[in-house]
Amino acid sequence: MMQRERMVSHFLDLVQIDSQSKHERGVADRLAPELRDLGCEVRIDDAGSAIGADVGNVIARMAATAPDAPPILLSAHMDTVPPGNGVKPLRTVDRIRSDGSTILGGDDKSGVAVIMEVLRTLKERAVRHGEIEIVFSICEEIGLLGAKQLDVNALHSKRALVLDSAHATVCVTQAPSADRFEFTVHGLAAHAGVAPETGISAVRVAAQAIAAMPLGRIDPRTTSNVVIASGGSATNVVPDLCLVRGEARSLDDATLDRTTSTIRRCFQDAAASATATVSGALHRAWVEERCEREYESMNVPDAAPIVRALLAAAKTVGADVTTASIGGGSDSNVFNRRGIESVNFGTGMRAIHTLDEWLDLEDFYRCADVVFEFVRAQAA
Ligand SMILES: [Zn+2]
Repeated sequence: MMQRERMVSHFLDLVQIDSQSKHERGVADRLAPELRDLGCEVRIDDAGSAIGADVGNVIARMAATAPDAPPILLSAHMDTVPPGNGVKPLRTVDRIRSDGSTILGGDDKSGVAVIMEVLRTLKERAVRHGEIEIVFSICEEIGLLGAKQLDVNALHSKRALVLDSAHATVCVTQAPSADRFEFTVHGLAAHAGVAPETGISAVRVAAQAIAAMPLGRIDPRTTSNVVIASGGSATNVVPDLCLVRGEARSLDDATLDRTTSTIRRCFQDAAASATATVSGALHRAWVEERCEREYESMNVPDAAPIVRALLAAAKTVGADVTTASIGGGSDSNVFNRRGIESVNFGTGMRAIHTLDEWLDLEDFYRCADVVFEFVRAQAA
C-alpha cells in the first residue's frame, strides 16, 4: 500500500536540510515543487516577514476527486530546535537516529514525510478523496509563531490532523495553556565585605520568591518551572539585579491564571519586604515583570467527529489508538482556537529535543497507514 522505503528516504533527505526555527527556507524550497508535482496549488504566506524568518508557511491544496467529501487539513511543522544543523541520520532495522552530535529532527519532519507519502499514494492509486489542505508551518518550536500568523479564513477545512507527537497509538485531544514570564528583580549594590547592610541582594529576593512560589507539578494538570538567567557579578558586590525566567502550564485555564498570579505575588511580596537604609533614606527592592500567554489549551471531546474518524481509521488498519493529553502545546492548539477542530497524532518520534532523539519506524509506518485510511474513509 504505502511505499515505506520511499517515505523513509524522503525523511532522510528532509532531516539533512538545516531548518532551525526562522531558517526553514531549505525545507520549503524542497517541499513546494514536490507538492506542485503532485498537482497541488501551493503558496507561501507572509508569516516569514512578520516573524523574521527566511520563509513563510507553505500552504497547499489538493483538489477533491470526491467533491462531496469534507475538506481536511493535514499539518506538520518544518522547523527544528537546535542543535539541528548538519544532521547525519543513521538507520538500523527498526529505527533512525542522529550521530549523537545533533537532534534528529524527527520532530517534525516525520510528520512532513508522512503527509507527503499519503498524498503520493492517494494520487498514484487514484483514491477518491475530498479536498486536502496542507500546512507546513514555520517557527512552531519558538511559540507556535507560524501557525499564529496563519490566515485560517483562507482555509476551507473545519477539521485538521496535526502530526506532531510521539506515539502512533495515541490521538492527543488535550494539551495545556502556557504562560511565559520574566522577572527582573532590582536590589541595591553595595560592597559585600565593607557595608553589606547598605545593599539589597536581588538574588536573595529572587530566591525568597522562588522558595514561596508554586513550582514543579502543582496538580495533575498543572506545572511550573523557573531558571535564573543571571544574577550578580563579582562575589564582593551585593547583587543589584537578578533575572528569573519561567513558565507555567495547565490543562485548566482558570488554574493557570491563578498559578501565574500567585507567582507574580510571590515576587512582589519578596521585593516589598527587602529594604535597606542608606544615609537616612529607605530603599526597597522592586520587580519588573513580563508575563504573557504563550498558547491556549485545547480540549477536543472523544465524541468529536475528528476523533471518531481517526479511531475508526486506526481500527480498520489494525492499529490500537486511544485518546490522551500531553504536557506541551502544538499547532493543534492554535487551530482549535481558530475554529478548526484538530487533534495531534503521533508519528514515531522519540526523545525529542535531545541528542538521543530517534524515530521508531514501526510507529512511523503505522502513522502513515492510519492517516491514509483516515483520508480515504472521509470520501467513502
Ligand atoms: Zn514538534
